[in-house]
Amino acid sequence: MATQEEVFKKITAHAKEFGFVFQSSEIYDGLSAVYDYGQNGSALKKNIKDYWWNSMVQMNENIVGIDASIFMHPTTWKASGHVDAFNDPLIDNKDSKKRYRADVLVEDYIVNKLEAKIDKEIKKAKKRFGEDFDEIQFKSTNSRILNYQEKIREVELQLKKVQENEDMEGFKNLIEDLEISCPISGSKNWTDVRQFNLMFSTEIGSVSDGASKIFLRPETAQGIFVNYLNVQKTGGMKIPFGIAQIGKAFRNEIVARQFVFRMREFEQMEMQFFVRPGEQEKWYEYWKEVRMKWHLAIGFPEGHHKFHNHLKLAHYADAAADIEFKFPFGFKELEGIHSRTDFDLKSHEEYSKKKLRYFDPEINESYVPYVVETSIGVDRMFLAILSNSFTEEKLEDGSERVVLKIPAFLAPYKVALLPLIGKDGLPEKAKEILKELKFDFDCTYDEKNTIGKRYRKQDAIGTPFCITIDHQTLEDNTVTLRDRDSMNQERVEVNDLSRLLSDQVALKNILKKLS
Ligand code: ATP
Repeated sequence: MATQEEVFKKITAHAKEFGFVFQSSEIYDGLSAVYDYGQNGSALKKNIKDYWWNSMVQMNENIVGIDASIFMHPTTWKASGHVDAFNDPLIDNKDSKKRYRADVLVEDYIVNKLEAKIDKEIKKAKKRFGEDFDEIQFKSTNSRILNYQEKIREVELQLKKVQENEDMEGFKNLIEDLEISCPISGSKNWTDVRQFNLMFSTEIGSVSDGASKIFLRPETAQGIFVNYLNVQKTGGMKIPFGIAQIGKAFRNEIVARQFVFRMREFEQMEMQFFVRPGEQEKWYEYWKEVRMKWHLAIGFPEGHHKFHNHLKLAHYADAAADIEFKFPFGFKELEGIHSRTDFDLKSHEEYSKKKLRYFDPEINESYVPYVVETSIGVDRMFLAILSNSFTEEKLEDGSERVVLKIPAFLAPYKVALLPLIGKDGLPEKAKEILKELKFDFDCTYDEKNTIGKRYRKQDAIGTPFCITIDHQTLEDNTVTLRDRDSMNQERVEVNDLSRLLSDQVALKNILKKLS
């Protein structure tokens, strides 16, 4: 069986081969951790964004959307805390000249040196005891495993301490004490650990104007906070209400790996929900539940999502949780739900000297609202769908197929029109049907190659339905409708196609399930 790493490699190769994701400026050897979405990838990404936008904005009368700019007044980032606190600890190996995140080096040490040893002990014992092996009992009694577990706890505690105290010297000592070596050079010749700010900066204005330094936004949320009053006033919004936004964010990530999971330019879908002070806990729990339902409605098998409640909170939060997804490289953050208190609005009041209050007629009081935020990366959602949909199947006739079982409502194309052969009036008939269907569905058309090869191609890009037009179609106006996942084929009336497809692929079916 292929390892998770091999599967992940196959997924990334498939993404390139079938026009989902390309490395940015590949002809110049690419740019690290920056990717372009191809013809199929951009369609999938758009459908993900529509699912989010429609479920947030279209389905909720008290949530509206905005589209703020990427450049913002530099004081925004002073007020938000990003200038002073948006840092990661960085360390270089002097021999390989490679740069690492100090916390990731320690976390990798835990996984590769300690957890790996536990797995090895378990595998050995499984082999020795065969059928009778009781893993839980073994893990709780074997002295070597207990020692490793104790060591893991100890290292995690030390890591937490240096992180919390922002103790860069302690960080380096920890790396040296654990005798962590560079995976490239193998040496333990490290520089000191220093804090590295993740914001990209550039300059605005021509030099003669007196250029000033500005940042590329590292999150979309601040565009919402600075517009809070504009939207509240012009939209006559009453608390509780939300402002949603989809847009690019930029972070100069130190270690950028795992494909589109961690990029330097990525896209976020964020919603800030403004609530009465004291009611944040209720709304935090509400949005946790709503957001988890949104993920589950996609229809992945159970056990792919879990909550991870944060113990260490960001400077602005009074509660925070991640929805983690089981990526091929393990459970990792897909979405964050944060109770951000009144930190951001208060801070913007202070820096801008403008009042950002709400007069609440129900309690006859004016206050700075509290905020509960939901924040999800489009690209991580894309990767979650791609990796979960990627399936290699052995068929009854011994052949194999690769199929992307993308939920139909998210698939780049909903339907492919395939004339059985490229003559006898079949292409003309196929195009006639296409002309009707394309008003409601993303369609593709293909008349090259054998029908079997064309089915495989549609499987590989995740098209849930193929319509085959043959000679019988010209006689009785019926076609074959092939289902991607079951590969079942049924003969249906052309006049029924629109209804049949709509039942299976329309986003509104999922939205109805959620409401
Ligand atoms: P991580 O701990 O993985 O760095 P984070 O906690 O910094 O993530 P947030 O600041 O909460 O992330 O951002 C909200 C969401 O934006 C994340 O849940 C994730 O889906 C997405 N995201 C954050 N950083 C990146 C990135 N570098 N590339 C792609 N998506 C990202």
